[in-house]
Amino acid sequence: GELRKNSMGINFSNDNELKALAEAVNATRHPGAANSWTATPLVPGAQSNGPTVQVTNPADRRDNVGSYVSADAALVDKALANGVAAQPNWDRLPAASRAAILEHAADQLEARRGEFIALCVREAGKSLPDAIAEIREAADFLRYYATMARRLFGHPEQLPGPTGESNQLYLNGRGVFVCISPWNFPLAIFLGQVSAALAAGNSVIAKPAEQTSLIGYVAVKLLHDAGVPADVLQYLPGDGAVVGAALTKDPRVAGVAFTGSTETAWAINRALAARNAPIAALIAETGGQNAMIADSSALPEQIVKDVIASAFQSAGQRCSAARVLFVQEDIVDKVVGMLSGAMAELKVGDPGQLSTDVGPVIDEDALKILNDHAARMDKEASMIAEAKLDPAMTGHGTFFAPRAYEIPSLDVLKREVFGPVLHVIRWKGSELAKVVDAINATGYGLTLGVHSRIDDTVEYIRSHARVGNCYVNRNQIGAVVGVQPFGGESLSGTGPKAGGPHYLLRFAGERTLTINT
Ligand code: GLU
Repeated sequence: GELRKNSMGINFSNDNELKALAEAVNATRHPGAANSWTATPLVPGAQSNGPTVQVTNPADRRDNVGSYVSADAALVDKALANGVAAQPNWDRLPAASRAAILEHAADQLEARRGEFIALCVREAGKSLPDAIAEIREAADFLRYYATMARRLFGHPEQLPGPTGESNQLYLNGRGVFVCISPWNFPLAIFLGQVSAALAAGNSVIAKPAEQTSLIGYVAVKLLHDAGVPADVLQYLPGDGAVVGAALTKDPRVAGVAFTGSTETAWAINRALAARNAPIAALIAETGGQNAMIADSSALPEQIVKDVIASAFQSAGQRCSAARVLFVQEDIVDKVVGMLSGAMAELKVGDPGQLSTDVGPVIDEDALKILNDHAARMDKEASMIAEAKLDPAMTGHGTFFAPRAYEIPSLDVLKREVFGPVLHVIRWKGSELAKVVDAINATGYGLTLGVHSRIDDTVEYIRSHARVGNCYVNRNQIGAVVGVQPFGGESLSGTGPKAGGPHYLLRFAGERTLTINT
């Protein structure tokens, strides 16, 4: 039996609980408030001479969240030396001891949730509901990988053999793992990667996304407080082109867990492959060009509700987000009409307010890419709707109001656009196979939404679409740890799936012991 329970999160129907949280987040906002975070690399025995970087709130660049000191090249070297020296003892601990530390960290994370929620809102621009969900998911990862570590690593597997011979299969850590995590889930994916690598007996060097280095620091401190030794888990913030590149070309790295763009995953893969070193494990979760297919048997209200959540929640900054909605011709006008009505109701603005649906995008670079894409779509496609921006927020933050366009085919989209832009394509009832082929032809394979009440249609899509996570008659975001193992195939990632039963195995080595008894 499974004893682990997913985290309960917050009761959204309890206004008092929510209001108290919103107030706690906003209380950290005033200039000079006690919660102005500072971070430095955490590498025992060394300090960094790297530059100090100021962190401001993407919703309001006047709001100073804190600062961090970047790692320099000398620190990367020292961190690797520490990690190599510390790993064997950590690996020899009983898996149950490592698991207990991770579970303790999950309890502490929930107990200190206010600070983490404040950071998710102010450093990452997350809406309050997204921030609350993020804490939950992070706690779930910690507990899930603890459970799996006990199950898989707790004792060797006994294998058959002739009389007089004992055969056992042991799992062990690989060595030093580098975890390079994204800003869009700065706590959940960060702690997911780190806790999986630790659970499997590796030492870890955690390199957070530049944009969310402060949350990464507080999360590493949390694990240290819970009992992970300082040389087993080290924190190296800084520019990916400097810190990430120095790490991934080093022969001492045994594995890399990476979530981010497909292009960066290629660069990491090339860097690892160029070393004269044992071939490293690479677990990469990358981009998508996710579609939702709706046929005329589906309920327009439900399609619109689910596509709004899938495309615009978290300001569309999820790898899982819907980018393209294929709607069957017979219902397209109705769906498009309802979609523009629903988009007019979206509240785009301060993520610290409970009434906000869509917060800012992460930074100026992201905003520029979205504005450039919108400018191209304004010429090449027809606009369906544009949500309204809160005028009080414009000018100070990186806001992009959700938009929807109708486009003739997927060829119009050259690459993943990471933000709240939805594209609608109409299809004829006889063309289901063409639609699925076009989706497969993008080369990505992350999420797919399906809205249909025809069993044969659902089964055709299920058996032909090359995607990692297919969701039928619901939204296509928010995979739950241990319930919907998450991750794509093809250009979307290497697997194994995060929050799934096989994830830890890729972080592990195997040793067979044969004894003549
Ligand atoms: N696991 C998240 C979801 O299901 C997406 C993770 C990501 O964006 O990398 O929505």
